[in-house]
Amino acid sequence: MKPHVRKIFALTASFALVAGLSACGGDDDDDDATPETPPAASIPQGTTLDLAILATTDLHANVLGYDYYKLAEDKSYGVDRTATLIANARKQNANTLLFDNGDTIQGTALSDYQALVSPVQCSGMIAIYKQMKLLSYDAATMGNHEFNYGLPFLSQITNVDFGLAGIGKGTAQTNPAGAKDCAAPEFPFVSANVVSAATKQPIFKPWVVLDRTFKATDASGNAIDVPLKVGVIGFAPPPIMQWDKANLEGHVEVAGWKESAARYVPEMKAAGADLVVALAHGGIDLATAYSPDMENGAGYLSQVPGIDALITGHQHLLFPDTNAKSQFVGQPGIELEKGLINGVPAVQAGQWGNNLGQITLKLAYDQGWQVRKDATQVQRISTRLTAQSGSTPATYVEPDAAVQQLVQAEHAATIDYVKTPIGQSQFDMATYYALAGDVSALQVVNMAQIDYLTDYIAKNSPSYAGLPILSAAAPFKGGRNGPGDFTYVQQGNIAINNAADLYLYPNTLQVVRVSGDIVRQWLEKTAEQFKQIDPAQVAPQDLIDTSFPTFNFDVLYAAGNALQYEIDVTQPKGSRITALTYNGAPLDLTAQFLVVTNNYRASGGGDFPGLAGGKGDIVLQAPDASRDVLISYIKKNPTLDLATYGLDRSWRFKQLGALAGPVVFASVPGTLAMAAAHGVNNVSVYDATPDATTQLSRYALDLSL
Ligand code: MG
Ligand code: MN
Repeated sequence: MKPHVRKIFALTASFALVAGLSACGGDDDDDDATPETPPAASIPQGTTLDLAILATTDLHANVLGYDYYKLAEDKSYGVDRTATLIANARKQNANTLLFDNGDTIQGTALSDYQALVSPVQCSGMIAIYKQMKLLSYDAATMGNHEFNYGLPFLSQITNVDFGLAGIGKGTAQTNPAGAKDCAAPEFPFVSANVVSAATKQPIFKPWVVLDRTFKATDASGNAIDVPLKVGVIGFAPPPIMQWDKANLEGHVEVAGWKESAARYVPEMKAAGADLVVALAHGGIDLATAYSPDMENGAGYLSQVPGIDALITGHQHLLFPDTNAKSQFVGQPGIELEKGLINGVPAVQAGQWGNNLGQITLKLAYDQGWQVRKDATQVQRISTRLTAQSGSTPATYVEPDAAVQQLVQAEHAATIDYVKTPIGQSQFDMATYYALAGDVSALQVVNMAQIDYLTDYIAKNSPSYAGLPILSAAAPFKGGRNGPGDFTYVQQGNIAINNAADLYLYPNTLQVVRVSGDIVRQWLEKTAEQFKQIDPAQVAPQDLIDTSFPTFNFDVLYAAGNALQYEIDVTQPKGSRITALTYNGAPLDLTAQFLVVTNNYRASGGGDFPGLAGGKGDIVLQAPDASRDVLISYIKKNPTLDLATYGLDRSWRFKQLGALAGPVVFASVPGTLAMAAAHGVNNVSVYDATPDATTQLSRYALDLSL
């Protein structure tokens, strides 16, 4: 035993820590780093302890398993169920710490409501922080989305003075009393690589050392309490400077992750940290070479000496994983099933609280705490108990009633908010006839996406200003599950929750740069939606190939309807696109185009030409949800008239001679007038009687018109 060594260590810790804190300009005085009780005089050699490090990531303000767009419960996510996993883990492990890895405060209508619509006051706390306080988190870091609502809001809700000129604590600034302290959860926030542009010092504490007393076992098998100092350091993704340029430029800068870790981990060790946990709001991408501005650098922190556990996130993926299709398969240094990166335990717990990460370290005391790497366990625990099987829905752990109860007022206010009109449409927007040419539910999505990119280029990327912009929107709801499975937003007020009908999936906006030839091939791919029609066949022919999902039927569009194309369904798949023009001239197959799409398509979803396998030239991975882009656009253009927003058909079927027999497709009974109103004039009722299974009527399409 070397008690003296231990004591000197503790003293060094206090001094180094004071220096560390004053250096980061924080005013936070409830230092977890200051020991509340004197450290034990000594720890017997051979003592062992198991520490379960629990972690959430990318909660995105999903305080409850509830979809505010659909106004319906969704048990597949929500902190109310994660809380049950946390409680279980605490029952099963004598020693636990609980961390959050960022992208915490933004992502639902509830978070928008609390930040933008009815901003939470200095004296109040955002709903997810209320829950995290109740759940006794030990520390948290910043993701990229923490910066979406601006620095004053973030300063207020975390009650951290950033030391930035002109940046005060949100609502406290307008409070005549000029409140110095705002309500915030009691755990510390750490972020090492977001620094003041003026002083280059981190705006949050870069790290903390948590002093904890844990249950251990001495060499003779006796239970003893021992002190342990756990260092916690955080990292935000460097591309925040692009994604939140308007909020951040001039105020803060970012530093590289490995560089920041190399600077601070030795400080943490000098401050007495027995082990170091990195809260890294970035993903694992060891196929890309490290760079200080990389987005997903978490895997590279495994190369920094002294980091004992890696909490990763941002990708909304799962690590460890047994899925052979995991995108982590084959990355250098990764042991996917064990949850190791270059031997360092790492976890990524999905998103929205659907998983809890757990890294269990076995520590042995031998003149200082040693991590027994061979005994480390990494788990990723899902709230889902059983998967959906046929018509039997998936089952999930029960929610935590107290965590649910805590946010009921905010929940109710949000439901009122999403029902509030944001604009109005003078026409019905529907996908009933989207596969026959009706764009009434797609055009506004395309216009919103083009508007977003145009604005983004003007503000951030003027070098792209010369490239033509196309936009892709598909009928996500195309009737696969019956008459209710179409988009239908009735003429009249549009509320925020209607945006989910127009944009079903929680995608984010992405932009790819492609050649004109790829544009043509992209359209050929979408034209696989249709069966090949034989003009000489007398018997009825089905138009739609139902094995091709309608969410892959991208309708490409350019502002002013400048892109035009025809689909010849008599031709085999792959050679159906004709009369492809841009600005009235044949589309130049060698020219470059920007296409606004979503993360699904850009990363290879649907295996589209030029994009398959994520091999496309993605020039923008926007931090914004496509649905939020649509909502913002409607707020900016609150009166949607049919001529401006619903009649720009970029495509039609190639006009054929008279066919020998009918070409038919299914849609909702009694809706034919809508097709005509939306400029689709070649449809008639073929058989009005709803099909016994699908409940859809059959309509005929006249391809000679
Ligand atoms: Mg993120
Ligand atoms: Mn996220």
